[in-house]
Amino acid sequence: MTREHDIPFHRPFMGKEEEDAVLRVLRSRWLTTGAEAAAFETEFADFVKGSCPARLYALAVNSATSGLHLALEALGVGPGDLVFLPSLTFTSTAEVIRHVGADPVFVDIGAETFTIDPELLEDAIRAALRRGNAVPRAVIAVHYGGEFCDMPAISAVARRYGLSVVEDAAHLFPYTLGAELQSDALVFSFYATKTITSGEGGMLLSAREDLARRVSLMRNHGIDRSVWNRYTDTGASWYYQVAAPGFKYNLPDLLAAVGRVQLKRAGEFLRMRRAIAASYTSALAVDTLVPPPASYLKGALHLYPLSLRDSGAAGPRGGSRRNELIEKLKKSGIGTSVHFIPLHIMPYYRDSYDLEAGSLPRTMARFNALVSLPLWPGMSDAQIARVIEAVSSAAAELTG
Ligand SMILES: *Cc1c(COP(=O)(O)O)cnc(C)c1O
Repeated sequence: MTREHDIPFHRPFMGKEEEDAVLRVLRSRWLTTGAEAAAFETEFADFVKGSCPARLYALAVNSATSGLHLALEALGVGPGDLVFLPSLTFTSTAEVIRHVGADPVFVDIGAETFTIDPELLEDAIRAALRRGNAVPRAVIAVHYGGEFCDMPAISAVARRYGLSVVEDAAHLFPYTLGAELQSDALVFSFYATKTITSGEGGMLLSAREDLARRVSLMRNHGIDRSVWNRYTDTGASWYYQVAAPGFKYNLPDLLAAVGRVQLKRAGEFLRMRRAIAASYTSALAVDTLVPPPASYLKGALHLYPLSLRDSGAAGPRGGSRRNELIEKLKKSGIGTSVHFIPLHIMPYYRDSYDLEAGSLPRTMARFNALVSLPLWPGMSDAQIARVIEAVSSAAAELTG
């Protein structure tokens, strides 16, 4: 239960424009995928396109998880294939690999980053090739907290071994391409806690027309004409063909309309998160606490991951001081979270693939040290000051 004066971990920023957008769609009586979703796709692609010379296809979906699943399906990833990914991510990134029948291979993060290490990625691919019982097929790069992965290095490794590349960009918006897209597909999330939200939703971007066509088909049951086109095209409105057993992954207009408003505010939200992060960083860079590095702070700042120094690191009982810090903050009414409990220690992946916690030492050390602080647009100066005060005094009182 949250009390009046509590500071939640996250609170979406919603205003009159979002409310008006929902009412506009309700009153139109067209609630499912239609003109709003199509406009959202166009506007989103325009935002991300930047100086990318190629045409970008944007496909709205009902979640980033759906988008990641569709990307792997369209790339033809299947049983007998290996997909490489970090362990320090949300379960979506790995579950979609199982949905297409492939197997995940977890790779450690960089020494100074929160994202997959390109050299360790190459080592993992080479080790898999030596074993030879499954085929390295793809890598999913996760832009943790909006920290941009080393995409040139990752795509160079992928090219060398013939792997496809998918970017889990659930944390990456607002993002604008500097040049070519360096992957086959890039998938954003509009889940309630993300940097912009439509409640639930996602967007897949690709410069590949073949991939975009397959995703477009499969997000709508494998039906060759969308419902919207059936009502607006001049041909017979009842006629459709099923080309494949697809999925029900379309984004309804009711949600797309909210996403369109939030898209316009993404820059403003980022400025607000930057200001909060700057306050945290200047106040919390003391003895036991380690703010995220400067390179991280230049990213989309979906999360503010604070680390505890000497936190018992990679051992099985690691994380106890971090847990104590979280408990103390909870008592002070401050909501926090941990991003993420590594996937390779989750019962399903640990037991299915016989994985040892210590096989990814950097991931374990990060996990045991991490706590994510509240970082949402609309936090007042008084709230920011209260978080800083509570974290500083809780950290000073830590035992052990
Ligand atoms: C939130 C999240 C997702 C899933 O997004 P949904 O839109 O909720 O499906 C995927 N990957 C990461 C890293 C996330 O944090």
